[in-house]
Amino acid sequence: MMKLTFLGTSSGTPTRHRNVSGLAVQTVLGPDWFLVDCGEGTQHRVLQTPLSLNDLAAVCITHVHGDHCYGLPGLLASAGMNKRTKPLKLIAPLPVWEWFEATRALTDLHLPYEVEHVDLGGPSLVYEVPGLRIESHALLHRVPSHAYRMQVETRRVRLKADALRAIGLPPGPAWRALQQGEDVPFNGGVLRSADYTETQVETAAAVMGGDNAEPALLHDACKGAQLLVHEATFTQEALDKVGPGPMHSSARLLAEFAQAAEVPNLILTHFSARHQNEEGMAALMAETQAHYWGNAFLANDLDVFELDAAGTLARGADGPRP
Ligand SMILES: [Zn+2]
Repeated sequence: MMKLTFLGTSSGTPTRHRNVSGLAVQTVLGPDWFLVDCGEGTQHRVLQTPLSLNDLAAVCITHVHGDHCYGLPGLLASAGMNKRTKPLKLIAPLPVWEWFEATRALTDLHLPYEVEHVDLGGPSLVYEVPGLRIESHALLHRVPSHAYRMQVETRRVRLKADALRAIGLPPGPAWRALQQGEDVPFNGGVLRSADYTETQVETAAAVMGGDNAEPALLHDACKGAQLLVHEATFTQEALDKVGPGPMHSSARLLAEFAQAAEVPNLILTHFSARHQNEEGMAALMAETQAHYWGNAFLANDLDVFELDAAGTLARGADGPRP
């Protein structure tokens, strides 16, 4: 239903093995994909994946801090040089849009496609096409910050095969016609497609947060969601030392919330450089598993995760390493 490719998992600054925030989301609906945050260098990470900038439907920026948006002008300029013509939606707080517009004007950037700004702060529904909805949810950070909830819905029409056999209609062209919604003449009467088919709706939803000091703000967003992707910049011990000033979450704070909200899958990301060694990652995982009983993962750059219609999350084969 949904495939997530992590393009950056470091907080604040890039490190040798982790770039700053960027997350690509693909769906079963088609080639269109979505980019949640675009830290500096995100386009270089995209080059290490099969993703094409021509299929990028929308960029969703969580907040104005540079490690979440400084890659935007470069990525959009490259899409233009690659002769992209399809319009693109930029879903972002107003300052991100104003900064992008200023950069475009001051650097003589002419894009061969339209960039349409969708502001945050109005209605929470920021993107909708058949089968896909993206909502924004407000978080708590030093500047206005948001999470995006992406919901994918697919419909499958199934034939009531037993009922058709029971009335003496064997498999054949009539079955196909009924499945495609057509009514079919039979034994002097008419078989109605609606009577011999049932529509199965499958829904998958993932919530992807920006920087945030209070995971519990996502309580409503996480209702019915099978996956939460959220920052865990620090362990609780490190957060206690740093103090509340930076307004980030610890692994413990996040894990406690995910457990209370009963989200079955949790991916932690946006790690402080101080935790980016084996010991630090082990500490983040231990803290998470002490407070959360679902499936927890620590994201690495170029990790791929797939969420299926049954709500199961699997980490795919590791991508190329930097
Ligand atoms: Zn950040």
